[in-house]
Amino acid sequence: MKLVVRVKLLPTPEQAAALEATLRAVNDAATWVSQLAHDRRVFRNYDLRRHVYGQVKDRYGLAAQAAQHVIKKVADAYTTLHAHVRNGNLGRPGSARRERVLARPIVFRPGAAQPFDDRCLSWRMDARTVSIWTVGGRMKGVAFTASADQLTLLAAHRKGESDLVCRDGRWFLIATCDLPDVPVRAPDGFVGVDLGIANIATTTATATATATATGTGTATGTGTGTGTGDGVRHSGKALNAVRHRHRELRRRLQAKATKSAKRLLRKRRRKEARFAADLNHTIARRIVTEAARTGRGIALEDLQGIRDRVRLRKPQRVTLHSWSFHQLGHFIAYKAARAGVALVWVDPAYTSQACSACGHVAKNNRPDQETFACTSCGFAEHADVNAARNIAARGETGWAVSHAA
Ligand SMILES: [Zn+2]
Repeated sequence: MKLVVRVKLLPTPEQAAALEATLRAVNDAATWVSQLAHDRRVFRNYDLRRHVYGQVKDRYGLAAQAAQHVIKKVADAYTTLHAHVRNGNLGRPGSARRERVLARPIVFRPGAAQPFDDRCLSWRMDARTVSIWTVGGRMKGVAFTASADQLTLLAAHRKGESDLVCRDGRWFLIATCDLPDVPVRAPDGFVGVDLGIANIATTTATATATATATGTGTATGTGTGTGTGDGVRHSGKALNAVRHRHRELRRRLQAKATKSAKRLLRKRRRKEARFAADLNHTIARRIVTEAARTGRGIALEDLQGIRDRVRLRKPQRVTLHSWSFHQLGHFIAYKAARAGVALVWVDPAYTSQACSACGHVAKNNRPDQETFACTSCGFAEHADVNAARNIAARGETGWAVSHAA
């Protein structure tokens, strides 16, 4: 399986200047190549290289590898754009948006990501430095920082190209690790994960032969959640507070609409995204660790379904939350794969309205956002815990069906 590791660089001011000059040069070059590709309708990597390779090297002072990466980056960007057009993501033929996008060449920001292969970038894990090609020559001893887990991953499994990016004045290398597949263990019961806004994730497990807990506990995680036992809720309070603060600030800054206000907004948006990502990593790690410890599998709602359900419930917040749910689902999926934990995607329809005790489905089963109270059998539980129980049960059924043979 492929895994992406983001490593923060700690360049000296001189090194940072060299990195900045380099990223600016390759992206200026990419924008120039893109203009030419657009004008001459030449989009394939091989064809483009014949047209521009020599000029890219001379004009922008790029090494051979860098020039090739620039050209490939442009070709790839157009491939992606054309795929979007084909799939109708930019509207129908003749639509204003589609015409506007197609009328102009793709432009590359000065800090846009640039791939570096092993000939342009080498890692010294013991010293925690990299040596990297720049427009000013090879630069050695650029320090980087990474967690112990990331260091182990990089040392053992890093493979192929890494992307150099600059975000808000901070430098990162995004490295790809290629890990051997871990065989999936046959699960002994399932943990159901219900995703929501008040509670980002609520987990509860089906009863198993070996586990004594039955998944009806209601221990509430405070802040970022306090574990992933049965019936544990990972509160969205902290995240929602951050989002609220940012929304307020956005309102004030948008009224100004100055350049510096826009820059600050961008910075804030990224900060919020980082906060959400950190939280999602923490939640995902807890859920997967607990499932691995108890020998269970994990049942997740199918992501497309989550988006639909959230759209029904909270229309104005869809874009804000759906990518965050996607991200959490993605984190859980790859952490589960790494740990050999079974993962089943389940149909999310009616998980919030169905009674996990008797199966009765009714809107009335939810008197309010937090409460589930079955109008048929009287079973009562926190709404998210009830939903998580349904998801866990569907995971177990789904696994049984797909492994019947
Ligand atoms: Zn019931």
